[in-house]
Amino acid sequence: GCDLTDPTILEPLLGRLSVLETKRWTAGQGTGPRTAVTSPFNHDLVVGEAIEATTADIDAMLRRAAAAQQGWDLAGGEARARLLDRTADLFEERREDFYSLCIREAGKALPDAILEVREAVDFLRYYAAEARRLFTGAHRLPGPTGETNELRLHGRGVWTCISPWNFPLAIFTGPVAAALAAGNTAIAKPAEQTPLIGALAIRLMHEAGIPEDVVHLAVGDGKVGAALTAHPLTAGVAFTGSTAVAKAINRTLAERDGPIVPLIAETGGQNAMIVDSSALPEQVTRDVVASAFQSAGQRCSALRVLFVQEDVADTMVTMIKGAMEALTIGDPRVPTTDVGPVIDADAKASLDAHVAEMRAAGQVAATLALPAGSEKGSFVAPVIAELPDLSALTDEHFGPILHVIRWKAGELGKVIDQVNATGYGLTLGLQSRIDTVHAEVQARARVGNLYVNRNQIGAVVESQPFGGEGLSGTGPKAGGPHYVARFATERVTCVD
Ligand code: NAD
Repeated sequence: GCDLTDPTILEPLLGRLSVLETKRWTAGQGTGPRTAVTSPFNHDLVVGEAIEATTADIDAMLRRAAAAQQGWDLAGGEARARLLDRTADLFEERREDFYSLCIREAGKALPDAILEVREAVDFLRYYAAEARRLFTGAHRLPGPTGETNELRLHGRGVWTCISPWNFPLAIFTGPVAAALAAGNTAIAKPAEQTPLIGALAIRLMHEAGIPEDVVHLAVGDGKVGAALTAHPLTAGVAFTGSTAVAKAINRTLAERDGPIVPLIAETGGQNAMIVDSSALPEQVTRDVVASAFQSAGQRCSALRVLFVQEDVADTMVTMIKGAMEALTIGDPRVPTTDVGPVIDADAKASLDAHVAEMRAAGQVAATLALPAGSEKGSFVAPVIAELPDLSALTDEHFGPILHVIRWKAGELGKVIDQVNATGYGLTLGLQSRIDTVHAEVQARARVGNLYVNRNQIGAVVESQPFGGEGLSGTGPKAGGPHYVARFATERVTCVD
């Protein structure tokens, strides 16, 4: 409930975190290759070391997790919920370590780091409540058979949970907590860019009393993820990341011998916002800048394409440019920084190449200069580009780049068609004060989360479940009422 832009809150906290700054962390154990984990804002700053899981490590952890699964399942929803709640308590107690790691390992600004811990804690507590709701005893089924019919939910086995770097704690924790709540054991694979945050999260789960055989950490890159999904003991995969990798995992699972293995995938987006001429310019400006540039545009929900009605476009674009030019780019440890680094040199190279292409086509309308010293890290200046249509924008550009497309009065239907034609379906913003426009967009846009007259970066556990459709994922929505049950299997008993 506190104001995360208030320097009187942030500065003392940042002062305390600097005490932790010399601490070196380690993720993983064993004999696998070791790599230094460095900071996105300064590649010379070593935050810790990652020890990659070998093929033998992966096999051993899957065997141990499989052997532990039935005991964990039979322990029941209440016992599992208590341990998830205890983990949430420990996450809160150790929040300053998480803030420090989110800033140093993931390059997040402190307000983002605070929200990240909050969301992880909310996932743990909500899925604990779901364990109590869904896994306590049998569900009596109504019916005319004259028999007693009961439905019970059980864990499926070992879930492999593969996560991205952009929410290195919340999205790392959420699927693992859901798998455990549902009576499964789990292997958690953090992104190769952020293993240290994942390692601390798993350590705290063990400290909370979740047995070491029940939840394991597998450190490494895509090769480790691929080995986990190909392993015959992986009984389900919860994946968050790019659409291309989700499809690769789907192919691996389809080709495996043995049972059909479920995949829950939460993937990329080509998120738009539609602005019509009834929208309030100040509100549009504030919401566009937050949606496109906050977290350096590295939220899966972030705004990529602004469709603005032609007759108000000049005013809106001028105001958005002005607000963008007032942003400060730089070190995420400084409370006045608005835009921090992107995650690594590869991300920067790919974004820079996209901007260079648009510049060559004369499409870049505004950008900012990078500050002195920024070459030590992976910084990308915010950009506004004007495009004639969506045809050139087939990939998701995961950074602070806003593409603007103008549309003519009377052509709202065509704009919705363009949004749907991307094939993605994650978030959509709408700024309009006309009820019939709200109704048309809500009825026709194929997106998982629609945000009306506000920014499009919200996903509050339980009240705003999050997730997309089409190229953006399989559902069910994270933090929603159908999520935990999808990690389970249903068994019905009929007694005469
Ligand atoms: P990514 O797909 O490159 O990597 C995600 C994870 O998959 C990492 O842990 C990686 O090591 C692993 N991986 C890579 N290749 C693999 C393979 N062949 N088999 C198994 N695992 C493999 O994604 P990223 O760059 O870490 O994250 C950014 C992407 O995540 C963006 O597309 C973003 O939109 C998406 N995302 C979506 C949501 C959502 O809720 N829909 C949330 C956050 C991020």
